[in-house]
Amino acid sequence: MECVKTRAIVARRANYAESNCMLTLFAEGMGTVSACVYGVNSKKSRMKTASQPLCFAEFVLIKSKGDIYRAESAEIIETFYPISEDLTKLALANYFLDVTGDAFSAEDASPLILLLNTLYALSYKDVDINLAKAVFELKMMQYSGYEPNLETCIKCGKDDGISAFSVLGGAVCDSCKTPAMLPLSKDVSEAMKYILNSDTKRLFSFKIADSAVKSFAGICENYILSKSDKRYKSLEYYKKLI
Ligand SMILES: [Zn+2]
Repeated sequence: MECVKTRAIVARRANYAESNCMLTLFAEGMGTVSACVYGVNSKKSRMKTASQPLCFAEFVLIKSKGDIYRAESAEIIETFYPISEDLTKLALANYFLDVTGDAFSAEDASPLILLLNTLYALSYKDVDINLAKAVFELKMMQYSGYEPNLETCIKCGKDDGISAFSVLGGAVCDSCKTPAMLPLSKDVSEAMKYILNSDTKRLFSFKIADSAVKSFAGICENYILSKSDKRYKSLEYYKKLI
């Protein structure tokens, strides 16, 4: 029997039969894997907490049928418990899980590390929820190969008079902008550059004027939705709550 030890976060959980569940895990070095847990509802189960969505733990997985594993045991690292107490944060975390699932692979753990750092900030730091969302979206776009160009106009190459953002990939100058583009202020542009140049640990230690958060968040959301070309039901649900 193939047995592996891996650090993973529970992205989804589906109950089946009386007391079993199937977990979707984002696992370091493995990518997205399915793992079943038997007898999870029994009083004796040691997998109860570790089988909850958002739980990050070191799992011992045993290869079962095909690509499916059986989760044998788990040592909990972090439950992000404060998120489960707040409906809005929980909805946002579900959107983060969907986005991470699209970007995460066995070869590259960066999306998972970004997810964990963002969930940590949502749980324990006093960050604006919309700002956390924007930071996560922009950094994930960078990891997915869509880093926007903010230094020069993406249409004509000039580096002065930058005043708009195009979802095609970056900054646009006064002469080239169209009414469909979002305005890009200096504050927002500087914040975006900070995110793109920071490692994940320092992502949330920056300041931006409250008045600029809305514009920053609008750009990041429009950008990720245009590049991923899909609807996230989890995002739509989150937006109903705020
Ligand atoms: Zn231009």
